[in-house]
Amino acid sequence: MDANMESSARDEYPSRTKFQCPICRAAGVESSSEVSYTRVNATRDRITRRRRCTRDTSHTFTTEESTRTTSLTEIWIRRSTDQKIESRYSPARLQRDIRRASLGHITDAQLSRVISDVTSSLAERISELGDPLNARERAEHEAAAGAVAVWDVIVMEEVERSLNDTSTRIPHVLYALGVRGQINLAHRPDEYAGFADATAFLSWLFAEHNYARLSRALPPVQTQREETWWSPTNLLYPETVIKKSGERRPFDFEQFQKSIARAMRGRARWVTESKALANWVMVQLEGQRVVASAQLSAVTTMALRRADDIAYLRWAIATKGLTSISEIADEAEDLIVHPSVRLRFAKEGQPRIDTAAPAGDVDLAARLRSLAAELEGSR
Ligand SMILES: [Zn+2]
Repeated sequence: MDANMESSARDEYPSRTKFQCPICRAAGVESSSEVSYTRVNATRDRITRRRRCTRDTSHTFTTEESTRTTSLTEIWIRRSTDQKIESRYSPARLQRDIRRASLGHITDAQLSRVISDVTSSLAERISELGDPLNARERAEHEAAAGAVAVWDVIVMEEVERSLNDTSTRIPHVLYALGVRGQINLAHRPDEYAGFADATAFLSWLFAEHNYARLSRALPPVQTQREETWWSPTNLLYPETVIKKSGERRPFDFEQFQKSIARAMRGRARWVTESKALANWVMVQLEGQRVVASAQLSAVTTMALRRADDIAYLRWAIATKGLTSISEIADEAEDLIVHPSVRLRFAKEGQPRIDTAAPAGDVDLAARLRSLAAELEGSR
């Protein structure tokens, strides 16, 4: 291929117009050169040519030719939260992120198809999608001169595009909930808006490029009642969990809390809230030494529905095993039409107000003042 290209180029352009000899140029003399030797490297993406000056044959020099596409290792990801360079584009890392966002509801074969789709699409469209790293960023990350950055949301869109296929509908929705559900996307322009609640999720679901055939008018948002909850200090955990298979296992609170955190990942205060939520579930099961895993799952479903729309949807899709997009749309719509009483978790150290006291019995402001005085006095 290279030899043919070389000869046809030779026919088309007389060698006199070729590369100027740098030695002559340095001396301020006009000259030309001809190719004496051409070599293509093993990966066939770089051509080296030795050239000889046409004025003085003792002048020889070498030129190198390569395609201007950026190599995959020099594609970097720019975070939409703070516009900083996050890391190199890594298929392995993307694979882990997709698996996590889709709560494991994706097969290895589906995953590798998506990774290959996204990687080749990024490679093809890099000149259109990427922005060069500036000098400071290059220095900071030891990146090569040709390094370019792509927004994380662009990668997200590529993943969604690839997942938007009849065989991967559920992973598609779970991935969007997981990634767009991370509040930080709210900092991006409207087209990349994150999911604050069920209404935002439904707008995405019914978009032209997604599941527009299911589209319906969104119900008006109801005002939601709220309840503040204080975590008790001495919690009694169950001792044994009986699984669906009949297997018995010691109850592991950390593990349980982690499963809740996976659904809440990226939501506002998800680290502390997932712990508070796990505690709330424990209180509902208080006094039961042996629990069925189905019990734990049911109470957690209730708790999440009260705590956060997006985390609830992720959990519900994964644990109820919803398989149709219209069922998912119904779940989201019901969150708007029939919202649960919102659970607000008291912050650590927030003085407890006894909501069980008869309404109007105590002037709340006076009560808070006396509480504050008490705290002051106890120091
Ligand atoms: Zn020369």
